[in-house]
Amino acid sequence: MLSNERTTCLVVGGGPAGLILGLLMARAGVETTVLEKHADFLRDFRGDTVHASTLTLLDELGLGERFAALPHREIDRVQVQLDTRTVQVGDLSRLPGAHQHIALVPQWDFLDLVADAAEEEPTFTLRRNAEAVELLRDGARVAGIRYRDRTDGSQHEVRASLTVACDGRGSAVRAAAGLTPRSFGVPIDVWWFRLPRYDTDPVGGVGRISGGQFAVMIDRGDYWQCAFLIAKGSDAAMRAAGVERFRERIAGLLPWLADRLDALGSLDDVKLLDVKLERLRTWHRDGLLLIGDAAHAMSPVGGVGINLAVADAVAAARLLAPALRAGGIVPRSLLRRVQLRRWWPTALVQGGQRIAHRAVLSGRATSADTPVPTTAPTGLADDSLAPAPTATLPLVLRLVRRVPMLRGLPGRLIAIGPLPEHAPEWARRAPSPRSELDR
Ligand SMILES: Cc1cc2nc3c(=O)[nH]c(=O)nc-3n(C[C@H](O)[C@H](O)[C@H](O)COP(=O)(O)OP(=O)(O)OC[C@H]3O[C@@H](n4cnc5c(N)ncnc54)[C@H](O)[C@@H]3O)c2cc1C
Repeated sequence: MLSNERTTCLVVGGGPAGLILGLLMARAGVETTVLEKHADFLRDFRGDTVHASTLTLLDELGLGERFAALPHREIDRVQVQLDTRTVQVGDLSRLPGAHQHIALVPQWDFLDLVADAAEEEPTFTLRRNAEAVELLRDGARVAGIRYRDRTDGSQHEVRASLTVACDGRGSAVRAAAGLTPRSFGVPIDVWWFRLPRYDTDPVGGVGRISGGQFAVMIDRGDYWQCAFLIAKGSDAAMRAAGVERFRERIAGLLPWLADRLDALGSLDDVKLLDVKLERLRTWHRDGLLLIGDAAHAMSPVGGVGINLAVADAVAAARLLAPALRAGGIVPRSLLRRVQLRRWWPTALVQGGQRIAHRAVLSGRATSADTPVPTTAPTGLADDSLAPAPTATLPLVLRLVRRVPMLRGLPGRLIAIGPLPEHAPEWARRAPSPRSELDR
């Protein structure tokens, strides 16, 4: 069965970019439909960080109190554990604005909150289980999407004045539009896994570098979401080495986690993230715009993908909603303006990630040949005011610590980013606590 409907702004993908765009467009009074291929937002780990600039945006949208009511953790400094000490490389306590921290919240809670707020708007529709499969065209112009309802396999068409692809780094819309992103070489992949977290453990985020091995742990309350960097393409060899060898690596790198490593029953508990760093040269076609990971897949370095995706959505809504509300076709020049505004902050952050790959990680990420560490680090003592031994600190971190003017830079770059976007006046609301329905 094929059904037809019409909307003004059609958003493909209900991730951070798609839902924030949907919310803002709907608040502008633009008929907006979001197609999301899954039934809910409850998926495996996709990133937890909501940075200070996005927290400020939520305040402007009147959602700050609802966000604060979600179970979350806050980190106000970025620390790296070396063998001899813990080094503070970013102090968020001096950030300007209302939020001097990064919030760690499961992404599905954040997306549920935004989706709930959007569904309060009469011009907003979220279609779940709706997988975009094909572009509809009027001549050369993209005129909407054909989607498949994953509950019964039926096909449907939605026509729209503007289609916005927010369907992530494997974007099907991008492929259908014949767009191929430029890919930058990445020397790392990431292994993700969980370990139990005890009340006596550190709080917030913990980074650890030692002997060519690098790990980041994100505090999820009763468990740690752990990221372990491996050399690009070494997944198969690392798996062949077996779970016991991996447990030994983690015990050597993070001795305070050694007492719970049997929670890793097998390497099936360890998921591979194929790290990509990509960017489209052109983010638009007639009738089509691409934003978020669909336009620029980010490396996990700095955990900034969600915030960049959100910032793209805010810029797109601010520049495009007036034209859509007026009922016209959005000219290509306006779509170009969205790319012009968001291209340079994206390129800047990706440039920083490439430097980080080279300076901190390149040639040092773990491969199957990397010896298992045997020296137990001192770990958690925070003597960040003492000079770190230069031999163990990568050049970039040494510079940041030595040049006073640079000290606030990493925290600011990560937590606020190069071009934070603010809610347009028409999208702002007074603070509203959770609605009656949520209670
Ligand atoms: C393992 C992992 C860890 C990460 N950690 C962090 C972190 O800590 N901090 C951070 O800021 N970033 C992190 N990121 C990156 C971050 O998740 C992304 O940059 C961000 O989610 C991009 O948002 P987006 O809305 O552009 O795309 P996505 O979040 O990828 O959302 C795309 C949405 O589109 C839907 N979709 C896909 N195809 C279709 C289709 N054909 N039809 C309909 N819907 C479709 C998907 O189901 C999804 O909901 C991580 C990414 C991964 C994979």
